[in-house]
Amino acid sequence: MAFEGLTGRLQNVFSKLRGKGKVSEDDVNEAMREVRLALLEADVNFKVVKEFVSKVKEKSIGKEVMDSFTPGMVIIDIVNKELTELMGGSQAKLAKSNKPPTVIMMAGLQGAGKTTTSGKLAKLLQKGNHRPLLVAGDIYRPAAIKQLQILGEQIKVPVFTLGDQTSPVEIARQAVQHAKDNNLDYVIIDTAGRLHIDEELMEELKQIHTVTNPDEVLLVVDAMTGQDAVNVADSFNKQLELTGVVLTKLDGDTRGGAALSVKAVTGCPIKFAALGEKIDALEPFHPERMASRILGMGDMLSLIEKAQANIDTEKAKEMERKMRNAEFTFDDFLEQMDQVKKLGPIDQILDMLPGMNKAKGMKDLKVDDKQMGRVEAIVHSMTKAEKAQPEIINHNRRKRIAAGSGTNVAEVNRLIKQFDEMRKMMKQFSGMMGGGGKGGKKN
Ligand code: GDP
Repeated sequence: MAFEGLTGRLQNVFSKLRGKGKVSEDDVNEAMREVRLALLEADVNFKVVKEFVSKVKEKSIGKEVMDSFTPGMVIIDIVNKELTELMGGSQAKLAKSNKPPTVIMMAGLQGAGKTTTSGKLAKLLQKGNHRPLLVAGDIYRPAAIKQLQILGEQIKVPVFTLGDQTSPVEIARQAVQHAKDNNLDYVIIDTAGRLHIDEELMEELKQIHTVTNPDEVLLVVDAMTGQDAVNVADSFNKQLELTGVVLTKLDGDTRGGAALSVKAVTGCPIKFAALGEKIDALEPFHPERMASRILGMGDMLSLIEKAQANIDTEKAKEMERKMRNAEFTFDDFLEQMDQVKKLGPIDQILDMLPGMNKAKGMKDLKVDDKQMGRVEAIVHSMTKAEKAQPEIINHNRRKRIAAGSGTNVAEVNRLIKQFDEMRKMMKQFSGMMGGGGKGGKKN
């Protein structure tokens, strides 16, 4: 997951500072040396690192910080604010034209994730009650048109194509007209990529720009390529006046150098971050939340937003009632798991919880979707009565359940034990919280 190394190293620096009642200039210098190394190791551009460290140092050595009760905390706060600033300060929102359609041109090198991101963006807009049109403007890569059509079908968004014999400039021109005629309010143009930036590619992009006069020119870059991604962004920006960057593959980027340098080097804000191959793995980029995540302070805001958008509140209320009354069964457990899965890959959800990456054992915990599949298989192999009352499952039945679910008895035992403990805990909680009905708190 993104920023793993950086988060760990920064937390080490800060835990040393936090413990101190007084912080000397030497302490700050020592801490900043370590921050500098941590950022360089995360592949952040060296000029950016230099400037960042000198800003933080200057602010940290001031009298108010040194004299405060918790100087360590104040310094962490300074780092947090400067990191946020480094990534653009506040969220850079997607443009919206007063005269629809809003035209978004997608650019980038081959393999950066342009086509996938076009589909994801369409889906995001559609969720916000917009009517996007996807435009197949990459006529050179053999499967690009088909790929976009499949994405379009999947999310039920129209795809405009004129095959691979018409020029992309003409396709783009007609697509915008098509959107106007059909009352579609966003046009997302997927353009051709190349392995390297070349004259021909730039010329084509410039012509598409001239005929469509886009409201957004978004450059899609692969975060895993680190400083190369930043250099690509810089070159594109010099020729095309980008309005924003989309960072893809942040799910596989363990260092984070691109995310931290691209705004500072190019002046272009990061507008979206992609964290996976699935169609809904695209999020608006929030610098302050990203800074929080990097510092291991979690990102509760994003988690809450995800939950609000995806979780059925009626069901959640019913679940809560069941938990309070300790009526929770294995069937409810499965349903709960389904709800959680809607939020995205479980390791990303854990990442958004404050301190999770630091919690003991969490680093090595691999909760993947496959493992969740095994748990589901075990529950599905139980009878209705067993799901409601797991205590009736004897040794023989455990063997049968293991065989039926393609797992082993140890796994079945573990799950039943965990479930039992969970129920006990729920009972205790409901007692403590004056739970609905039984065993309520007496005053
Ligand atoms: P294009 O050549 O720029 O249009 O690239 P594609 O959209 O075809 O994407 C190239 C590959 O990257 C595909 O296999 C995508 O599934 C994958 N990809 C795109 N975005 C992400 C992402 O955010 N995370 C991961 N893990 N893979 C991605």
